[in-house]
Amino acid sequence: MTEPLLRVRSLTKVFRTGTRASHRAVDDVSFDLYTGETLGLVGESGSGKSTTARCIMRLIKPTSGEVTLDGVDVLGASRRELRDVRRGVQMVFQDPYSSLDPRMKVRDIVAEGMRINRIAASAAEERARVAELLELVGLRPDHLDRRPASFSGGERQRIGIARALAVNPRLLICDEPIASLDVSIQAQVLNLFTDLRRELGLSILFIAHDLATVRFLCDRIAVMENGRLVEIGDRSEIYGDPQHPYTRALIDAAPEPSPEHERAKREDRLRRRRNGDEAAAEASGPAEVAAPASEMDQPGAHSTAHTTTTQQSSRPPAVTWLRSIKERQ
Ligand code: ADP
Ligand code: MG
Repeated sequence: MTEPLLRVRSLTKVFRTGTRASHRAVDDVSFDLYTGETLGLVGESGSGKSTTARCIMRLIKPTSGEVTLDGVDVLGASRRELRDVRRGVQMVFQDPYSSLDPRMKVRDIVAEGMRINRIAASAAEERARVAELLELVGLRPDHLDRRPASFSGGERQRIGIARALAVNPRLLICDEPIASLDVSIQAQVLNLFTDLRRELGLSILFIAHDLATVRFLCDRIAVMENGRLVEIGDRSEIYGDPQHPYTRALIDAAPEPSPEHERAKREDRLRRRRNGDEAAAEASGPAEVAAPASEMDQPGAHSTAHTTTTQQSSRPPAVTWLRSIKERQ
């Protein structure tokens, strides 16, 4: 059995809310996340998802439990180890308005982490990499010298994703990255994540408050309720045979999929039929996911089936570059 990239055991965070009162925001949570996998962490607002993420990055100190990233004990890490952990784990936040420094130009926002970690060998290399990253997330070169205020929410989120990818993270933690976007933009940003994970083989912990969002993206899904992890399983198990009543309630509460998703599913079924995989296409039925998991596991398998981003589908050199630095590590 391969070692998980991220191993979380009995993670617990109790907040003091008064002299005698306390709140168990995260309660005995355990899960593994494997390299190349996208794990969804789903639960209603207040269920403890962000607190779990913040404990993993040690932005806050858990009350008890263990977190291991690539074999390193995160909670017992020295300052140096912690620096490596924080470089290795990058976050994309929910609010694209407060998460970008309004005074900085896009090129500096994206390059900041590269500078801190001395990733580019020269200023010219840095410029080239930043431009590639911007193209990778579907933004234009002339966006580089603009500041966050001139971008829409979806564009800002793309900048946040480029910033996270710039340091070639081992793990990306996305904390409800589409929740505050216009509904019409949500599918586009979700599709960008799907493309990126497929092309770069990223490992992602993707946090969402509803099961509809993660259905198209995640290999496995963990469900949280009131600080506890009540169910974890493969995507097909969670949607096809949910065990916990809370998971069932979340599925029942899921809004109707958006027209973009419906179209993506139709196109995917057609594509699979063309590929001779008729049985699978039929079995997927009207409520199945956008792409088979086996296909998502192959970083090179590029599909434009549900790409609604505005950019061309041929991928820029940043993909090759990110892969090559991954190999060097
Ligand atoms: P989610 O991300 O699932 O919406 P959070 O992890 O943000 O949930 O919060 C879980 C619970 O912990 C909530 O009840 C929240 O009010 C509480 N909480 C979060 N941060 C703090 C804090 N710094 N102090 C006290 N309570 C907190
Ligand atoms: Mg949250």
